[in-house]
Amino acid sequence: MAKLIKNAWPTEKTISSEKIAVHKFGGSSLATSERLLNVVNIIKNKTDVNDFVVVSANGRITDWLVEFYQGKFDSLNKINAFYQALVAEILLENKYWFRLFEEDIKTLANHQAETQLSEDEVLGYGELWSARLLTELLVQYDVPALNVDAREILKTDSLQNHTHFDYDYFISGLKKISFGNYSKRKIVTGFIACDSHLKMITLGRNGSDFSATLLAAFLKANSVTLWTDVCGIYTADPRLISKAYPLEKISFNEAKALALIGTNVLHHKTIAPLIVNNTPLCVKSSIFPEEKGTLVFTDTEVGKIKSLAIKENLKLANIKKLDLKIKENFLQALYDRHIDFVECSFLQKKSNAHEAFSHSDTKQYSSFNLLVSQDSLDKFSDLCGSFCVLYDLLENRQTLVSIVSENIYQNEKLLSLLDGFLGSEYCGNYLVSKTKNLVNIIISDEIDNIALNALYDLAFSSNLNVSEVALSSGTINQQLESVG
Ligand code: ASP
Ligand code: MG
Repeated sequence: MAKLIKNAWPTEKTISSEKIAVHKFGGSSLATSERLLNVVNIIKNKTDVNDFVVVSANGRITDWLVEFYQGKFDSLNKINAFYQALVAEILLENKYWFRLFEEDIKTLANHQAETQLSEDEVLGYGELWSARLLTELLVQYDVPALNVDAREILKTDSLQNHTHFDYDYFISGLKKISFGNYSKRKIVTGFIACDSHLKMITLGRNGSDFSATLLAAFLKANSVTLWTDVCGIYTADPRLISKAYPLEKISFNEAKALALIGTNVLHHKTIAPLIVNNTPLCVKSSIFPEEKGTLVFTDTEVGKIKSLAIKENLKLANIKKLDLKIKENFLQALYDRHIDFVECSFLQKKSNAHEAFSHSDTKQYSSFNLLVSQDSLDKFSDLCGSFCVLYDLLENRQTLVSIVSENIYQNEKLLSLLDGFLGSEYCGNYLVSKTKNLVNIIISDEIDNIALNALYDLAFSSNLNVSEVALSSGTINQQLESVG
C-alpha cells in the first residue's frame, strides 16, 4: 500500500489539489497515429490544464523489448521500424524526438556487448518513448504539456515488493518539475520508477494502471480515469455472452476481485492506492469517449451480482508447502513474468476432488492451489524450478467461472440457486471456492456456451425481485433442458 499522505498539497499556492485528475492511456490507445490523435482530442477536451496523464508504451513495444532482452536482437529492428513509420507520420518536427530515440537504440544495441542493462532498464524504454512522443504531439496541437519521467517522482524500496514509495522524494520531485510549468498537463511515464539507488525499476507487466492510482494517492487527486479499448467493465465477456453489458458502477472490493481472477480489466495492484483517499476510478473507452464507462468506487448496490468471469483452458496446480515470504515473492514473480494464473486458496471439496487438493494452513507454511492457463504452463514450470517450488498438476483441463459481488458469501439466494445448478447432471465434476466477494466454480473440462449463458442468467436472476424471477426462470429452465 502506498505510504499514507499526511500533508496537504505543498507546492505552488495556485495549484489546488481538488482540481487535479489523473488520466491513464493504455498501450493500444497509443498504438497508431489515428488512436494517438484520438488521445490528443480527449486530452484537449476532457482534461484540465493541471491534470496528470500517465501513459503505457505504444502498442506492443514492451513485448518486443522483452523479446530483445531475451536475446532476439531482431526485435530492436521491429521497434525501430515501428517508430520510423509512426513518428514520421504524425510529428511534423520530429528531429528532436528521433535524436533521443536513436541514442536510446544505440544504448540498447550496446547492451549485450557493453552496457549490461538490467531487464527493467530495457523494458522501461517503452514508456520513455511513449511519453516523449505524446508530449510533443500535444504541443504540436497547441496543448501545453510537460514530459515527466516517473523516476523523478516515484522512488520505491525494492526490498518491499514495490509497495512502499517515498513521499518526501515525490514532493521534492514534484516541486522541481512544477517550477515554471504551471498550466501544463504533465505527461508521465507509467510502469517505471526508481529504487533507492535511483536505478530504473518497473512495476510489473501492465503496471501503468498502478502508476496512475499511485500518483493519484500522492496528489490527492479527485479522480482517476483509465482510458482503454472497452466501454467499461462488463458483466461478462460479450464475446461469450452476448447480453453482457458495461456496468454503471462497481465497488473497490468487486474490482479487486475481478483483478485477482486475472480478467485483464485492471492490474491487481490498481485498487489499493485508491482506498487511501477514497478516490473514484472510471474505466472508459478512448474509441468511444462519450460513452459513460464504469465507475469504481466505495458505493455499491449491496447484494447485486456484478460480473461473471470465465477463464478457459486452465490446469489446476497444487503447490506444496511454502514459507509465506517465499509464497509472496513467488506470486509476485508470476505476475511479473506475465504468467496467467488465478489463486484459489480455499477449495471446498464438492465432488471427487483429487486428494492432493486438500489445503493445510499452518502459520508459517501453506500449500495452496493455482489455476494456470495452458499457454503459461512452460513459463510456470520454469519459474517453479527457479524458486524450487514443488507442485502436482491435475490431468484434466479446467474452466473457471467466477461470480463477483460484494459480500457474496452471505447471498443465500444466489448460493441456493447455484447449488441447484451445480447439482444438475451436465455440470460434471466441479470444485467451489468462496471468499468474501467471489465464488469460483472450477469445472472439469469445458463448459458449453448454452450452459454458460444459463449460468449467467441464473446468477443475474438473483438480482431481480420475485415477480421478475418468475418470468426469467422460465427461460433458464428451457435452456437447461436443451442442455440436458
Ligand atoms: N507497457 C507495460 C506493459 O506492457 C506497462 C503497461 O502497459 O501498463 O506491461
Ligand atoms: Mg501494456
